[in-house]
Amino acid sequence: MPGIPLLYGNMKRRDFISQSFIGISTMSTLSSFMNTMDELTPSEQIMPALFIGHGSPMNAIEQNEYNHSWAALGKKLPRPKAILTISAHWLTRDTRVTAMERPQTIHDFGGFPQALFDAQYPAPGSPDFAELTKKIVTKTSVQSDMEWGLDHGTWSFLLPMYPQADIPVYQLSLDYYKPMSYHYELACELRELRRKGVMIIGSGNIVHNLRVLNFSGKPYDWATEFDEKIKSYLVNKNHEGIIRYDQLGNAAKMSVPTPDHYLPLIYSIAQQENKEEVTFFNEKTEMGSVSMRSFVVQ
Ligand code: ZN
Repeated sequence: MPGIPLLYGNMKRRDFISQSFIGISTMSTLSSFMNTMDELTPSEQIMPALFIGHGSPMNAIEQNEYNHSWAALGKKLPRPKAILTISAHWLTRDTRVTAMERPQTIHDFGGFPQALFDAQYPAPGSPDFAELTKKIVTKTSVQSDMEWGLDHGTWSFLLPMYPQADIPVYQLSLDYYKPMSYHYELACELRELRRKGVMIIGSGNIVHNLRVLNFSGKPYDWATEFDEKIKSYLVNKNHEGIIRYDQLGNAAKMSVPTPDHYLPLIYSIAQQENKEEVTFFNEKTEMGSVSMRSFVVQ
């Protein structure tokens, strides 16, 4: 099962695009974000880990506050030897790691402008780090994959973040048939990669409900409630609360109607070591039901 199709095809393209322009950056937002990033000091020799709320694929190519933040991060963070992404858009029945030298750019969406289909992210892969990843994960037998590549959960933010595409990138799939606790335990095993210069990035959205998109832009109450609750868990390092999000009742049901976009969050929080904190950015909800909340673990 190579992947589960996207739901974006249900949207009217013009509506989606016009809504995507709502969040044009204000310089004050960007400048306060940059100041926050200035305060981050590289801790020991551990590569930071990230969670990216990726939202619309258009964030790859239009100019807005989200991809301005991604571009700023690319300039601020220490340069990794390789980037490992866990994308909401690669769901499998087992756990796979891309192991090819030249991963293809996958345009796994429909109903967007030709410019988005023309976008390419020609970063090399990393067969060596893929092999190392297979060795350090004991939770399951990770399979080498030579067919996938980089889906838009990966390249849509990497294109603005590292436009040169000169850092090797590889992906780990999500076994869609396993519980949250399984993913957390597997993700903890990946921490060792951070000490070897790998930047681990989960890419999804904390609130992601495309069935009820509200094009007037105001967040639903349940979306705000869930996003704020997860934020408080992140601040308090309450990983258990994040894993057991389904105890949050209706707000959880509406915010996470399917677990695909929430799962990458589990991989990002599992990277957090005792002394590390999270620093938030892009703390906004788009179209009522897509939280763009993102953070750096460092
Ligand atoms: Zn997505």
